[in-house]
Amino acid sequence: MKAINQKQEHTGSYYAATVNEKTDYPELEGARTADICVVGAGFTGVATALTLAERGYSVALIEANRVGWGASGRNGGQLINGIGGLEKIRKKHGEGIADMLWDMKWRGNDIVYDRVEKYGIQCDLKSGFAETALKTKHLGYLEAYAEERERRNFPYPYEIWDKEKTRSMLGTDAYLGSFVCHRDGHLHPLNLCIGEARAAHELGVQIFEQSPVTGIEHGDKPKVKTANGYVEANSVVLAGNAYSLFEPKHLSNLVFPAGSYIIGTEPLSEDVVNEINPMDVAVCDLNEVVDYYRLSADKRMLYGGRCNYSGRDPVSIKASILPRMLKIYPQLKDVRIDFEWGGKIGIVLNRIPAVGRIHNNVYYCQGYSGHGVNATHIMGEIMADAIGGTMEKFDLFADVNHFRIPGSQWLGNQIIALGMLYYRMQDML
Ligand SMILES: Cc1cc2nc3c(=O)[nH]c(=O)nc-3n(C[C@H](O)[C@H](O)[C@H](O)COP(=O)(O)OP(=O)(O)OC[C@H]3O[C@@H](n4cnc5c(N)ncnc54)[C@H](O)[C@@H]3O)c2cc1C
Repeated sequence: MKAINQKQEHTGSYYAATVNEKTDYPELEGARTADICVVGAGFTGVATALTLAERGYSVALIEANRVGWGASGRNGGQLINGIGGLEKIRKKHGEGIADMLWDMKWRGNDIVYDRVEKYGIQCDLKSGFAETALKTKHLGYLEAYAEERERRNFPYPYEIWDKEKTRSMLGTDAYLGSFVCHRDGHLHPLNLCIGEARAAHELGVQIFEQSPVTGIEHGDKPKVKTANGYVEANSVVLAGNAYSLFEPKHLSNLVFPAGSYIIGTEPLSEDVVNEINPMDVAVCDLNEVVDYYRLSADKRMLYGGRCNYSGRDPVSIKASILPRMLKIYPQLKDVRIDFEWGGKIGIVLNRIPAVGRIHNNVYYCQGYSGHGVNATHIMGEIMADAIGGTMEKFDLFADVNHFRIPGSQWLGNQIIALGMLYYRMQDML
């Protein structure tokens, strides 16, 4: 089996330029043992390893590149409740699990807030997230969000902003209104991932970087192999998401890599900040293919969007994203662009994360369809629960039938591109 990652350093993102700590964990060499071996040190892998370590397991965490090198260290930093497919799961299992799913939806946010506090992780965590309406039909979603929270006695503040209030809070005429939730928020994702990895390491997790896993020798005690060593464990968790080519027999054609891209401006003046986002909330529109943005701690506009299913990165990320930002914020036309980068999202056709087991003791969890800061933390806990024998939530996801497209490593991008076109057309209606 081929590893897609070959010992790369971080991409040239704003996040990589502003890390609290440049990680330098050793490469895996020789024979090691652990109760659990986790492959991939993005949020899924790190959250799983940290939860297991908190519960007393010995854990080895193997990363091909650097902690947070993949989507987890490159994303928009928007901490948004929910996980793909919960509504489909509720329909399948009935109202009896609706309360449990509601709690699950918020669990990732809870874990992030708790860990940032418990381990003193400096990741610029701020509450406040605005979902913005671009079309009349979106206004109905805002009402529905408020109604559900009201019905469930949601304990955190939330509000609907009408067009006028949205204009005064976001400095743009682009939106018809917005829904603001203060339990969602935003953060520096690479610093969160590195901070959680540091906490896991301090609890005894063996972390290996620059160590692409090349294969697994299955058995009662699977061996997870790299070029220069292996970890023998009772169980394995695969958390390579869109960057993984693991276990093609079981996992290929399930998760499709798609590109998403971000630009970072120079720090904005206080006047501009007060005009475009005085409350410092993260913003995401309600289209199927979203634009998302927020201010960094040093007041740069980090503006992202444009999912690319073709498999090819744009020739210029700046040329691709800048017009989108200027459409919303023409007042930023003269600001300098200091950063541009992209990363791979793992898309699942039905939007439900692909979760399961191979040979009983190799677990996998991947495919958050662009929504993952919160969802990966939920899944880390669900993986740890499953390893401990509590399968209830794991089974909800593992029971889902996923549609596979044979040969999709070649064809999939075309098919996804067609799906994408369909959603774009819906956005235009
Ligand atoms: C540009 C962009 C913006 C986004 N914005 C947001 C947002 O604002 N909010 C949000 O909630 N979500 C967002 N997402 C999605 C979110 O980032 C992902 O869903 C989440 O980070 C997935 O985490 P993960 O740990 O599963 O995968 P990743 O973070 O991709 O980590 C997988 C890791 O596995 C490693 N790996 C793969 N193969 C091997 C191997 N053979 N051996 C060892 N290691 C291996 C990789 O090197 C990588 O580090 C965004 C994604 C992108 C790309």
